[in-house]
Amino acid sequence: MENYKIANRANAACSQCQKRYSNQEEYISILAHPSPDSEEFVRLSFCLECWDREKGKRRYLCFWRSCKSKVSPQSWDIQSLLETFEDLANKQFALEDEEAKFCYLLALVLLRKKRLSLQDIRFQKNQEYFVLFEKKKNKSWKIPVPPLDKEEIEHLTNKLASLLQSPETLKREGEKK
Ligand SMILES: [Zn+2]
Repeated sequence: MENYKIANRANAACSQCQKRYSNQEEYISILAHPSPDSEEFVRLSFCLECWDREKGKRRYLCFWRSCKSKVSPQSWDIQSLLETFEDLANKQFALEDEEAKFCYLLALVLLRKKRLSLQDIRFQKNQEYFVLFEKKKNKSWKIPVPPLDKEEIEHLTNKLASLLQSPETLKREGEKK
């Protein structure tokens, strides 16, 4: 339930000034680590005024514009993450970089949400790569699989996915259990 509350709050009010978003209001969502040495994720959101002051001070993994409108916030979030993934996947980064890990975790979430499909797994110079395919754009990306253990991957992917779920989806999943 903890994750549900965070995600829900992030879509309702500014994490800084606590102001509730009005209808059609644009705000900024970010994914960040709660502390510098943490692997966990938190989701926060900021009204545009607060973001102006906060953006230089905050460390975050990615940010995107959200809008409190009739469009489901969840599909906004997933679309934004797909764009973040594309940006990261187009970059060259070292395997031990935070970005490599985050890119891989995003890919796992997007696979789960069926925005990407796994086309191939390749090994080059003892390194494993995923070849991922995006149907809508008819485009493939090759990304390295970082050295994380299975449990860690599972935990972080679940956490990330739950931060992006709409309250409705979570309720439905809760009922199934
Ligand atoms: Zn604010």
